[in-house]
Amino acid sequence: MNYKTTIGLEIHAELKTKTKMFCDSKNDTEEKIPNVNICPICLGHPGTLPAINKEAVKKVLKVGVALGAELADFSEFDRKNYFYPDIPKGYQISQYKHPLVKGGELNGVKITRVHLEEDTAKSSHDTGDYSLVDFNRAGIPLMELVTEPVIHSGSEAAEFAKELQLLLCYLGVSDANMEKGEMRVEANVSVSPISNLKSEKLGIKAEVKNLNSFKAVERAIVYETERQIALIESGEKVIQETRGWDENKQKTFSQRLKEESHDYRYFPDPDLPKLKISDIPEFSETNLRKELPELPWEKRERLKKEFGLKDEAIEIFTQDIVLGKFFESVVNNLEVEPPNAFGGSTSKSTGIVLLASNYIISDLSGLMKEKNISSGELKIEPKDFAKLIKMAADGEISSRGAKDVLKIMFDEGGDPEEIVKEKGLAQTSDDSFIKNIAEEVIKNNPTVAEDYKKGKGNALQFLVGQGMKLSRGKAN
Ligand code: ADP
Ligand code: MG
Repeated sequence: MNYKTTIGLEIHAELKTKTKMFCDSKNDTEEKIPNVNICPICLGHPGTLPAINKEAVKKVLKVGVALGAELADFSEFDRKNYFYPDIPKGYQISQYKHPLVKGGELNGVKITRVHLEEDTAKSSHDTGDYSLVDFNRAGIPLMELVTEPVIHSGSEAAEFAKELQLLLCYLGVSDANMEKGEMRVEANVSVSPISNLKSEKLGIKAEVKNLNSFKAVERAIVYETERQIALIESGEKVIQETRGWDENKQKTFSQRLKEESHDYRYFPDPDLPKLKISDIPEFSETNLRKELPELPWEKRERLKKEFGLKDEAIEIFTQDIVLGKFFESVVNNLEVEPPNAFGGSTSKSTGIVLLASNYIISDLSGLMKEKNISSGELKIEPKDFAKLIKMAADGEISSRGAKDVLKIMFDEGGDPEEIVKEKGLAQTSDDSFIKNIAEEVIKNNPTVAEDYKKGKGNALQFLVGQGMKLSRGKAN
């Protein structure tokens, strides 16, 4: 029997605001000392009243506009009632019937809704015979995005989550770092036999929580798919439940039977005002759209059109926002017309832009990896990098020389022209200089030189390489 896997994702992201969702305690996900960013409101003391964080609402609406979704005109907050030590009021303020955002699409995946709620406190249970609760996180604005059940593989789910993370970073609404728990993914997974009857009915789903990396998202879905198929094949039934992901065992495990939404006794929070979005001019779609930065997919298209970059380079410059800016700033300093600015392309300008792109994604990125330096820590000025590229393109330095200069620039910054002068790296075509080098290479490698004379053509490459080494990249 063949099976179809169906997945719907629920993704939470902590919003980057100054203060928490319903009080003015600091929203600081980096805080290491427990229980310092707290107040009677986020501790749920009796008699306190919440007030809505306008910036958080605006950020969710912005996400909605970017997704091409429908923004609510009427919206409200609901109480989701349950008892747990990390939820001091006995309920979480969330949204149920009237989310801020409905519909939209990302990476070809239909979005059901995006709503706003408050994060819970953080419990630690690995302390022995008691548990600890840190309320710094309690009340941090939390966006929840829910997709339709239209994803069909673990890799597709991971790709979606990656693209959402990128979007949230571009919009500046969340840092969405999964390792830090700023973005958390839950995967609802079901399988259904593909029968000849073409029944569209989906199988019973299990919801997998604690997915803290894209790898975990993918692996958990693959594992869960296989587990469910094995159950059905052996004549058993999949039960609707919440499962955890065990990173060490690379397995999902049962946590609890799934609660239904009526278990939560949702009702509108009487302490908070209803929202009539059209009453707030700042929240109009036109206004929000004006504030949107260039979005990842728009950037990809522009990089392709303007510079004719290859997909791999486009993806690197889109994923690493700072490196992308660096590239564009280098191109500005090259002072060439964008190749397609006038609908055509000149091979010279294309050539030098692609040369710059190649040096960034291979040589510069190589050094960054080797020395564990991020794009935000680069010492090289784009104008100096552009100069280096021009010198290489004009033959003032050899490609080997350029790599040496780049290494120095990488460690210390500086003007490549001066570095070349200082280190004597300028390329030379001086006959007698090169002749001396060539003679020395032949003297040092008599057998290889003999091989070449006997007709072994590629022996020459080795000899040229030795010559470049001996001349420290100077010989042309
Ligand atoms: P619940 O009420 O159990 O939370 P929802 O209908 O709200 O269920 O859906 C929660 C998530 O589960 C959504 O992302 C949705 O796309 C997904 N989902 C719903 N039914 C299925 C199914 N049969 N298989 C896989 N995912 C599903
Ligand atoms: Mg749910």
